[in-house]
Amino acid sequence: MTYDHALDAALNRLHDEGRYRTFIDIERRRGHYPHAVWTRPDGSEKEITVWCGNDYLGMGQHPQVLAAMHEALEATGAGSGGTRNISGTTVYHKRLEAELADLHRKEAALIFTSAYVANDATLSTLPRIFPGLIIYSDALNHASMIEGIRRNGGARRIFRHNDLAHLRELLAADDPAAPKMIAFESIYSMDGDFGPIKAICDLADEFNALTYIDEVHAVGMYGPRGAGVAERDGQMARIDIVNGTLAKAYGVFGGYIAASAKMVDAVRSYAPGFIFTTSLPPAIAAGAAVSVNVLKTAQHLRDAQQTNARILKMRLKGLGMPIIDNGTHIVPVHVGDPIHCKMLSDMLLETYGIYVQPINFPTVPRGTERLRFTPSPVHDSRQIDHLVRAMDALWGHCALNRAELSA
Ligand SMILES: *Cc1c(COP(=O)(O)O)cnc(C)c1O
Repeated sequence: MTYDHALDAALNRLHDEGRYRTFIDIERRRGHYPHAVWTRPDGSEKEITVWCGNDYLGMGQHPQVLAAMHEALEATGAGSGGTRNISGTTVYHKRLEAELADLHRKEAALIFTSAYVANDATLSTLPRIFPGLIIYSDALNHASMIEGIRRNGGARRIFRHNDLAHLRELLAADDPAAPKMIAFESIYSMDGDFGPIKAICDLADEFNALTYIDEVHAVGMYGPRGAGVAERDGQMARIDIVNGTLAKAYGVFGGYIAASAKMVDAVRSYAPGFIFTTSLPPAIAAGAAVSVNVLKTAQHLRDAQQTNARILKMRLKGLGMPIIDNGTHIVPVHVGDPIHCKMLSDMLLETYGIYVQPINFPTVPRGTERLRFTPSPVHDSRQIDHLVRAMDALWGHCALNRAELSA
């Protein structure tokens, strides 16, 4: 009984703070994405357009990706049947890792269950490989990096978000002989801002530190072959370990790191989160490999995504909406309180068939609650128009402020 009370107390805390999460039940329709069907709690259905998905380029319905998955499924069956070490390594896993190593121009790549696991498993293992390692971590790093760094038993220093002077100060304060690593992201997904890759690599050179970059919100979408912002900025060779996902722009599932052959070999050999878990189903690996390969030459999709993001930002700004514009594909609209944020999201869904999840504390700081739109090449001008008109009407309805925010 006391266990029951503890469960109630834990859940009630969330309800009291307005942080209890209810999932919106949707079913995407292949070939019609971003269209989906929403099933309401009472079982009734409504056609909706998804405006907050991470399938950024629509690759989740790409015919070549699906064909590769069908083929591998028919050829090998459902699951891999083992960990990588014990019967779970197939030609599909090897092909995907080769594709990813080539993407990032690294000697090797290593696939994990997800990018979350890749971050957590790698960062929590590195101090075993580099005894005494100090990790310098951006304050806004993703939860998966924070968890990995927190659990690794090594030393960590948190630098203020994108604050190079603070990072330098922390690096300079430590023993010059200590092994060091700077862990950061290329695109921070909540504000859609870039990390200063070149300047961080310069500091890493100066202080003889390794660099670890999470390019989860950039792979597939930035750089001439979709390898991310480091590729776009000509900094790829200066990154020691890159982390990416196969589940966002690549539209499938799984995560990875790419690095030197020795680094990958060491992580492969020491990271429990890699060793003691079943490898990806072959069909997943096959689909992901094709998606990575297709996006190496699909500049038109990257261009269309950026164009749609620019159009949406321009039009919302034209209405005086407080857009946080940091020049990426992510379009956050600042609402500023959790009640209005949830209300806007509910009304967009019920009245206009527009699905955008409210982003509230603790994902973002209190007072910065927002709606976060992710336009893609598969959103057409009619859908953008519908969204802009709906936002205009509801913004007025909620009597929200139209003052411009500076980015
Ligand atoms: C989504 C996300 C991840 C996790 O990726 P998954 O493959 O979904 O586990 C890691 N890092 C960042 C910055 C993310 O936004």
